[in-house]
Parts: sequence; structure tokens; C-alpha cells
Amino acid sequence: MGVNTVEISMKGIAASAGIAMGKAYLLESPNLTVTQTPITDPEAEIGRLTQAVETSKIELEKVKEHALHKLGPDKAEIFAAHLLVLSDPELIDPVKDSIRNEGLNAELAMSNVANMFIGMFEQMDNEYMKERAADIRDVTNRVIAHLLGVTIPNLSLISEEVILVAEDLTPSDTAQLNRQYVKGFVTNIGGRTSHSAIMARSMEIPAIVGTKTITREAEPGMMIIVDGNQGQVIINPSESVVAEYEQKKQAYEAQKAEWAKLKNEATVTSDGEHVELAANIGTPEDVQGVLDNGGEGVGLYRTEFLYMGRNQLPTEEEQFESYKTVLERMQGKPVVVRTLDIGGDKELPYLHLPKELNPFLGFRAIRLCLEEKEIFRTQLRALLRASVYGNLKIMFPMVATVEEFLEAKEMLLEAKEELLSQGVSVSDEIELGIMVEIPSVAILADQFAELVDFFSIGTNDLIQYTMAADRMNERVAYLYQPYHPAILRLIDHVIQAAHKNGKWVGMCGEMAGDPIAIPILLGLGLDEFSMSATSILPARSQIKKLSKQETSGWRDKMLAMRTSDEVVAFVKGNMEN
Ligand code: PEP
Ligand code: MG
Repeated sequence: MGVNTVEISMKGIAASAGIAMGKAYLLESPNLTVTQTPITDPEAEIGRLTQAVETSKIELEKVKEHALHKLGPDKAEIFAAHLLVLSDPELIDPVKDSIRNEGLNAELAMSNVANMFIGMFEQMDNEYMKERAADIRDVTNRVIAHLLGVTIPNLSLISEEVILVAEDLTPSDTAQLNRQYVKGFVTNIGGRTSHSAIMARSMEIPAIVGTKTITREAEPGMMIIVDGNQGQVIINPSESVVAEYEQKKQAYEAQKAEWAKLKNEATVTSDGEHVELAANIGTPEDVQGVLDNGGEGVGLYRTEFLYMGRNQLPTEEEQFESYKTVLERMQGKPVVVRTLDIGGDKELPYLHLPKELNPFLGFRAIRLCLEEKEIFRTQLRALLRASVYGNLKIMFPMVATVEEFLEAKEMLLEAKEELLSQGVSVSDEIELGIMVEIPSVAILADQFAELVDFFSIGTNDLIQYTMAADRMNERVAYLYQPYHPAILRLIDHVIQAAHKNGKWVGMCGEMAGDPIAIPILLGLGLDEFSMSATSILPARSQIKKLSKQETSGWRDKMLAMRTSDEVVAFVKGNMEN
């Protein structure tokens, strides 16, 4: 039979809740190694080539159509360019000549000619031409794959229900996933705060990351169960296991229906303290999820997704429309928009930034914006123009020093002056805050608190920088400890400093929606919790049962503890009582 049917269970990091079942679709780069094989009939070989080119064209037409409808004209243009390359006799004729004159097999002839052009374009000192080299590589690989009889996986062409299995998924891969067909995904690498995991949560796709070996265990077409609640993957489940998970799925749906009853309720503790539960979003479309899940605001709008999956920067007008849509749809509820936070695992290939050894510590976010001023100015103008359509708050990401904040603020004020002098109205009530995600800011929170209107603690990064443990690296995931007393002391310090200065503090890192962290943060006095929309109702249900007075009493004990395990044991012990 060939295909392994043994049941395999494996654990990973639960990245997005829910239970899904389906056939495995492996997103792997196929082996496109070409070798010389003897040919007897050159014309028949040319026929094979023509056939592979035609099949590739049909495929590209489909991808282009899909891109046009799902991702917009910019993305579709890339595939239109690929189609042009394939129709260019300057590429195809030399391949035919080489088959006829040198007696080469089609795949080797194609590969030689492609390499010749790629080498030529790559050497040119011109970004546009370098990109053409990438186009030629993409297109000719597709043709070679057809000649070799191997499949190049294509996310946008998936047309049946599948569980995606991959080494890793980039945020732009994730953005292309079609929820109708992709029922879940499992990857070898990544952590709970990788952006693909965060996006899976906002798309409500059950997901497990960091399994280390799923691509080795799963084969295309195998049945897979993804239990995103427990981080459990089961390959080739027996009938009884399928039945068990059908039941778990139903129980989870029933639990969700129970939570849904809290949609229009305020988030108030058992002793009457109100906190705000807001949502993190990446696109204007995500607002629907916020409203459906009873979000009291948007605590983090990651605007970088507006800049991704396209070939050039979004214009001021495009950005204005997106911000305006979000503000209007939130109907006066607070919307915290974070300015461009590109870098780390979020790349923008069209900016052609040099590769860095440590991208998470590199030229990114506010650092990039203060250098590439035009990019920043365009975004600030769009935000300010949109401010009159709702309750806008602006925050800067990855601030490390007071100077950075002051310079960014200065640019915001200049953009405002400019707009006002052009007769454009701008709200006078925009609060201005910063993300607290670099330890230097948490440590000097008392100084920053005098300057800003609010803080939003970005624990996804704050933890990785404090513990020196890459948030994407499952091998050091054991050090990525949200409840470590060092992290809790930093959070406590930030909240105390803000409150002394009459400022509010939110948290938009994933920790804000974590059931163990919620009582701790409530006790430390956090004002706003911003999380994946799907975590809001479970969090509300939990907070309604907690007492602010009681959790506040935990503070001194917890801050004096030495390990994360002690903190967890303490919280669990107290929650059981
Ligand atoms: C954070 O660092 O906690 C955060 C919310 O930002 P991001 O996950 O986008 O880096
Ligand atoms: Mg961050």
C-alpha cells in the first residue's frame, strides 16, 4: 500500500483554539533537481516542453484570478507578469534550440536557459531587474515541476477541506489562507506569539505550532485531527478517536454558545470593578469578529498588515479608508492604532532592506519610521484625517528611548499643523501612547508616564527581550515565561508608574488573554486587556467570577517569588478555592 496508516499522536504549542479534522495538505518545497537523461526524439521532447508550459499557463491564470478577487490587483499583477514571461519567445526559443541542437532533455534545457537569464538579471545594479530574476525563477520552476511530474503547492489553489502541514507559515502565507477550505494548520516551528499563530486566532482557524516533526510524520492525504485547545495532533486516528474528538468538538461548540450569552454584558468583577476587554486586529475585516465577540474596543490595530502582501507602499488615501472604516464600525468605542511595526518576522520585501543577523533587534518599527520619514508622515496624515470618524488613539511601537518618542510625537504634531493649515479637520482628542515592549521603557516607566497619555504593554516582545528568548524559537520556548516574577515586576512597575501620573495601562500582548495571567493582571491593576477577539468572551466569563480585592492581595507574595512555577502553583491554588 505504501501509505502509513499507523495512528501517531504528537504534542505542539496550542496556537489557536478549536478542533478540526481533515486531510493533510503538505506545504513543502518540492525537489526540483534536474539531471541529464538521454532523449531519442527531440521533437517529442519539445512537445513535452510545450505541454508543461501550457499547463503552467492555465495554472497561473487560475492563481491570477484568485489573487485578483482575494488579494487585490497588486498581487494579481505579479502573476500577470509571470504569464508574460512564459509567453516570451526569448525565453522559450533558446530552450527549444538547446533540445534540438544539444540533445538535452527538456527539464535540463529549461534549467540551463533559466539560470543564464537569472544570472544576467541578478548582476544588474537595478532593483527592478533583480526582481525580474525572481520572476524567471518562479515561472521556470513551475514548468520544471510539471516536466518532473512533481506538484508545487499553492495555498490559493486549495479547493477541498484540508489541514495544512508546513515547516512554517509566514504571515503573508497565513493571510492567503482560505477559511472555507483550510480547516486547521500544524507547523514544525514557531511559538504562540508568532504572527502566523496570532493571525490564525483572529481568523478562528484551529492551529498548532512548534511540533518539530509534523512534516516528517504526515503524508499528503492522511487524516489529521488538530486539537488547538490542547496542542494535540493525531495522524491517522482510529474510528474511536475520531468519535472522541467529534464529541470534544461538540462540547467546545456548546461552551462557545454559553460564552456567547455574555456578548453584550460589561466586564465587571464579582466585587464590582470594571475593566475593559478589547481586541487585537490586523485588518478592517477583523472588526466583525470584535463586534461578534463583544469587544469593548480595539486595543491594538496592527497596521503593518496593510503594507503586506503587495508590491508597493499603501497610499495615504488607501490607509485613510482603512482607518476610517475601523473607526466608524467601532462607533465611538476606543480604537488604538499602532503605527507601522515592520521587522522581526514581518517583512516587506519591496522595501529591499538588507538582511540582518538579528531582525528582532534590528532596524524595525519606530526606528525605521524615524529614518524613512516619508513612509511615517504618510501614515500619520492618514491617521489624523481619519481621527474625526471615531475615538482614535495612536501608539508607537518598539520605543526604546525618550528621544524616539519625542521625535515621533514632533512628527505627529507637524503633520497635524500641516493638515489644519490645509483646512482638513483633525480631532483634538487623540490620545498618544507607546507600546511597552522593550525593557528600557518598562524600567523608566516613571519618566515615560509623564510624557504619554497611556501605555500598552506588549508582552510578546517584552518577554522575549527580558528573558533573551526568541519568541519564534520552540527550542527556547521553555524560557519564554509570561509568569516569571521578573516579568511580573516589570508589569507592576509600569502600572504603578502610570497610575501615579493619572494614566491608564493596557496590555495587547497575548498574555492579556491567558486564563492564568488574567487574575494576576487584574490584581496588579491593569485597566485594559486586549486580546484575540475569540478570547474575549472566555475572559469576560472568568473575570466575572474573580474578585479585584482578593487578587490585589496576591501582589506582594507573587512579586517576591523566584520562579514561574511558584507563581502558577499559587494562582491555580487560589483559583480552586
Ligand atoms: C507585543 O510585542 O506584545 C505586541 C503586541 O506586538 P507584536 O506581537 O505585533 O510584536
Ligand atoms: Mg511587539
